Amino acid sequence: MSEQCTEEKIALKNIIEKARVTSREVMTHQERTRLNHIIGQSHQQILSLNGKYIKRPLKDSTVASKFILLSQQSYDSVIQETREVRGIDASGNIDAYSKMIPIGRQRFFPLYWPNIWSELSEDNQERLVNRHKSIKNAQKYSNDAICYMITTHEISHLYMDDSLPLWLQETGAYYYSRESVKTMGISARSPNWEPYEKIYDTLEEKFDENLHHTYFGTLEAQLYRLLICLQYSADDSIKKLFPAKNPT
Ligand SMILES: [Zn+2]
Repeated sequence: MSEQCTEEKIALKNIIEKARVTSREVMTHQERTRLNHIIGQSHQQILSLNGKYIKRPLKDSTVASKFILLSQQSYDSVIQETREVRGIDASGNIDAYSKMIPIGRQRFFPLYWPNIWSELSEDNQERLVNRHKSIKNAQKYSNDAICYMITTHEISHLYMDDSLPLWLQETGAYYYSRESVKTMGISARSPNWEPYEKIYDTLEEKFDENLHHTYFGTLEAQLYRLLICLQYSADDSIKKLFPAKNPT
């Protein structure tokens, strides 16, 4: 991540302050409480699986304060304003910073309550209704599930070593998210995430604990970091997944 100038930091701080006000205006207290509950559970799950690799665990309330819940419309305008300030092309690839607002070493995550239900096939909806006994329960389950996937992904970014190459930051976040939600009984995944997860799975098989220490910035034998970073840096699959930027 390149150094931010003071002007950019001030502009981003203003965006976040404004987003917090909007959040209080457009989202109900109940919705924000429900999100904080999900964040707390996601955070504890990340810590219980990866705590030994993480040097300084944060409080649940600190993690929750990094997320700003918005309506989809207000979320879109926050992302647009952030992109303008940071000079990120909206057509750019998915990257660790496209949906995250970094200010110095701090990171903030605007998000909106996902509505995955409407995107599910009729078969899937029916299956979920049968399993959860009512449409209302099935909708809540699927929207909560996607929310857990988002929060565990972003919390992984919160703890990662941000000097790692972008492709490693991102594939790792997908992996830690998948592993966390799996232990919470959520197994549904988007096929779009699989190529990212597959890369990290291959690294995990090869480097095991050294990979996790590398991701969370607590590796002692620096040689492994170099070896891990070299594994995919020049690989075609990385260029395909991160086309708009040099991910190394
Ligand atoms: Zn990410």
